[in-house]
Amino acid sequence: PVSPVVTVDGPSGAGKGTVCRLLAEKLGWDVLDSGAIYRVLALAAIHHQISTENEAALVPLAANLDVQFLIDSESNSSKIVLEGEDVTKRIRTEEVGAVASKVAALPRVREALLRRQRAFRTENGLIADGRDMGTVVFPDAQFKLYLTASAQERANRRYMELKESDLSVKIENILADIEARDERDMNRSIAPLVPAADAIVVDTTKLNAKQVFEHVYELYTQAL
Ligand code: C5P
Repeated sequence: PVSPVVTVDGPSGAGKGTVCRLLAEKLGWDVLDSGAIYRVLALAAIHHQISTENEAALVPLAANLDVQFLIDSESNSSKIVLEGEDVTKRIRTEEVGAVASKVAALPRVREALLRRQRAFRTENGLIADGRDMGTVVFPDAQFKLYLTASAQERANRRYMELKESDLSVKIENILADIEARDERDMNRSIAPLVPAADAIVVDTTKLNAKQVFEHVYELYTQAL
């Protein structure tokens, strides 16, 4: 039998990351953070000074990306290493996110990253977090979720997160970034951000992380 996969897609700030972590803990499964792969590729492109329009150079970069997803046994947290350098924090900036969504719009770049993403599926069971997990990467997943929330609420969440380390952040700028990224992700010709036909859509605008998890876990157990 094929190993189980749960897919969790949706725009940034909808709460996918937290739900995926909690589901994985509950079920004892692995997590694929596919956005991190696009972010790592974006950072590699920045390092190598490859423009987001240069698909011919980005495809081999994607295919040969020297990245490792490690679990730090001391803190039990995950660590991302690009070309020998710990980039766990550096890939999380808005700048890298914006470049990621540009390289992610290139069909042959997405193609080059498919196998790498599917390799995360092991006997263990996988929670796959992204934009096209249920539509393209794991269309045969047993359970598919699509999380969404209003752009204003997603901007608020991101603001609260960023404010801790950067007091100069402005909510208007974050909202504008989120809207630009949504626009690119939803309107690209390849693997656009859209719920799979068989996905359950959950609006998290009025829910906190614990409520989202409890709701989603109940949906999951009902679906079994
Ligand atoms: O989820 P995260 O914000 O880390 O993703 C960064 C960008 O990577 C997204 O805005 C999107 O353009 C791209 N992405 C994608 N397909 C995925 C995951 C992320 O196109 N499965």
